[in-house]
Amino acid sequence: MDAIDIAPDLAIVNATILPMGGAPQIDRGTLTTAGDRILAVGPSDQVSTAGAAKVIDANGRVVMPGFVNCHTHIASNMLLRGLLEDVQLFEWLGTMWKLKRNFDEETLYWASLMGLVEMVKSGMTCFNEHFDAYRVEPQIAALKTLPLRATLGYGFADRGVYADVKDWSWKTLDRFSDKVSAHHRSGNDRVHVALSPHAPYSCGANMFRKVREVADDQGVVIHTHLSEGPQEIAYVHETYGTTPVQWLHEMGFLKSDVTAAHCTQLDDGDIRILAETGTKIAHCPCCNAKLDSGTLRLHACREAGITVGLATDGPASHNSLDMFQEMKFAGMIHKDKMHDVEFLKTRELLEMSTWGAAQAMNRPEVGTLSPGKKADVIIVDLDKAHCLPVYDTSAALVYSARADDLETTIVDGAILMENRLVAGIDEAEIRARFREAALALRDRSL
Ligand SMILES: [Zn+2]
Repeated sequence: MDAIDIAPDLAIVNATILPMGGAPQIDRGTLTTAGDRILAVGPSDQVSTAGAAKVIDANGRVVMPGFVNCHTHIASNMLLRGLLEDVQLFEWLGTMWKLKRNFDEETLYWASLMGLVEMVKSGMTCFNEHFDAYRVEPQIAALKTLPLRATLGYGFADRGVYADVKDWSWKTLDRFSDKVSAHHRSGNDRVHVALSPHAPYSCGANMFRKVREVADDQGVVIHTHLSEGPQEIAYVHETYGTTPVQWLHEMGFLKSDVTAAHCTQLDDGDIRILAETGTKIAHCPCCNAKLDSGTLRLHACREAGITVGLATDGPASHNSLDMFQEMKFAGMIHKDKMHDVEFLKTRELLEMSTWGAAQAMNRPEVGTLSPGKKADVIIVDLDKAHCLPVYDTSAALVYSARADDLETTIVDGAILMENRLVAGIDEAEIRARFREAALALRDRSL
């Protein structure tokens, strides 16, 4: 059937539309959806809204693809937010582990749900969860309550700070096809599962080899931390006489299905390997700077043709799930490091947090607004004291807007938040249950 014959379920009219994926801004545009897909996008006088079940007048608002957070840890890190500040990565990981040992299903459920609420309210419609070594099921339950799009990576480790989860990790890896049949592509294909070996300093070579074998066999993607800070570089160099990227490459681990988070310590050879293998990078500038881990060589990575998406990391290291903060900080730190104010323009930062991040986590069905794509759409209100006057929509979004400016969040064609009210949940109850569970966890762990 021709698109023109389908009555839209939803029509968003009179909007400033940023379709992303290189498409130009539409100043007075209309976007329509049917079911879980985008039906049409274009100037308002060219897009039919006839028979639309619901119409949103977005006059003075911006319509764009939902933000894609291509590296985070919601369930665990919501419980660790603000617990420990002003320390380096390895001290931080050690203290966090004391709480992680005591995680239980119910606490993880409330933490996951609270994280989903925060993301819906900040316009994040899709996220790449890295479970650093504990159960995934509570988050799957939370995603049934608040259905965002997610790739959930089962976390594995067998040495160092995470040695305790060795047996569990190997058992889960050996029977990973069970997880794939139970959850992969569930919830109308919103929920995918993935393999998340923790990092080169916490997983041995046999574990990385096994993960590669299972990924190839089951057709699921991989999401790991890589080259995160100087301590990891020193450990791998002392143990194997090479860099973490080269070490993984020599065992045939790196391919285009791998999302590598951080990558702050790449040398020229590492960048060549990541480009040649098609490995993608999740760039987390706020958390890297806060933990003094280093800064991704973004200019060199882009020159080499590596796909880079923006990400927040977990709310423990960055303290929020807010892509506006991440875009602004990325713009500033790279201009400063490069001594080049022209590097990383506002539109490029918006691309990195939508289409770039979608590609970086291998979810190309989202990240742009074009017919046939999944309808993950946000409406941002820039008619605010801290944004006006809006001479340039991209500049206002990157350098002035805040998560609170999100007005409406749509995932899979369903409105999850309208006028800042999240549908189908009791937010006050979630806040209370989460707060109670987190404080109890801290009291029994430290
Ligand atoms: Zn991380």
